[in-house]
Amino acid sequence: MDLRNLPEQLSSFQRINQRRTILENELKVDLSPLEPHEKAVGESEKKNCEQMFGMIGMPVGYAGPLSVVFSNNAKTELHLPIATTEGALVASINRGCKAVSAAGATVTKSTEHGITRSIAFRAASATRVQELVDLIRKDEAGWKAAAHSTSGHLKVTKYDLDIAKQFVFLTIAAETGDAMGMNMITIGAQAIADFITTKLDGVKCVTVAGNVDSDKKPSRRTHDLGRGYEVIVSTTLSKDVIADVLKSTPEAMVGVANAKLKSGSEIAGALGKNLHAANIIAALYLATGQDIAHTVEGSLADTEVEATPTGLRVQVRLPAIIVGTHGGGTMLSAQSKCREMLLKTKSGLKAKQQLAESIAAAVLAGEVSLLAAQASGHLASAHASLAR
Ligand code: NAP
Repeated sequence: MDLRNLPEQLSSFQRINQRRTILENELKVDLSPLEPHEKAVGESEKKNCEQMFGMIGMPVGYAGPLSVVFSNNAKTELHLPIATTEGALVASINRGCKAVSAAGATVTKSTEHGITRSIAFRAASATRVQELVDLIRKDEAGWKAAAHSTSGHLKVTKYDLDIAKQFVFLTIAAETGDAMGMNMITIGAQAIADFITTKLDGVKCVTVAGNVDSDKKPSRRTHDLGRGYEVIVSTTLSKDVIADVLKSTPEAMVGVANAKLKSGSEIAGALGKNLHAANIIAALYLATGQDIAHTVEGSLADTEVEATPTGLRVQVRLPAIIVGTHGGGTMLSAQSKCREMLLKTKSGLKAKQQLAESIAAAVLAGEVSLLAAQASGHLASAHASLAR
């Protein structure tokens, strides 16, 4: 079964169909539902997916509008494309949008930590470890220039050093223009590794993906220090909105928050103490063409709930929203249209930052609605009526 060496003259669409026919004949499985629309294929067969033999359909539901005030004080209404197969999720986020918008607005603040990559070096001796550390500190301009020579958009902004026996980890953080940047920073990291190892005998680069960056893994480091965009988003809900829209009370919601977010998460040793941030992040990452595996870092969010004299304040800190508006899956036609829909109003923020803040605002809406559903005992009944 040769899925790679297909005739050169075939178009992407034709190659995809030919592979699917080969697989169907070989495996005796009907794969016809995977036949893509020709115009949806774009460059995906060349740039996004090797041995591509089809596309899967993903339902996309609408939630919104969601009022939000971005970190530059620009106020807008968001329209959320929620890509999911999980019944009740869109309805729940939609209800959260209604409550949050009725309350006034969701306020977002964000910090760009940049995308990170850690290079693991192995030094032949303790002396070499010290020489390596000295070189990295003294020749910062040299190795940064090596990284910058690989891209017109990559800018290394800071670095950390960690030593573990004979290993030295150089973790770089970078701005990457409009792209999420993992490919760019990995290529830049290789250039840094080459630059340093040619300068110092007895030092080898073990890998340019040394796990201190925790790419696609949950870690205390990412939770505490942030990666990509760290966003803090908050709202204050009045008792009336909680009663009318969410069918609950501040006391009941605080009661669930104390049990679930504080005690339950503590017992589990959870790194992210939230209700279901990953649900919203995965759905919006899928819809807008982000790298879905970064949902892992998105789930490191912490949600805090406290009663106020007039109602309830809810705040979510999302330490690692990792997104781009260029490159990777963002270039696919349907995903780029969903992103256009979400970023419809230009806020004056960089589009990538606006996307990160918009996703965080949607997470808040999701947290509010699910907390209320649990506080009013409606979780099971909503799933029974909507998701079965
Ligand atoms: P990318 O798809 O590699 O695209 C970046 C390219 O777009 C660069 O060549 C850049 O040019 C160019 N570009 C043009 N205009 C740009 C602009 N305005 N801003 C930024 N770049 C611009 O994007 P990426 O975000 O670096 O990588 C995303 C992909 O990485 C995803 O598919 C993801 O799944 C994958 N990924 C890779 C790794 C890894 O270790 N390699 C890990 C996780 C995920 P110049 O750089 O030439 O200037």
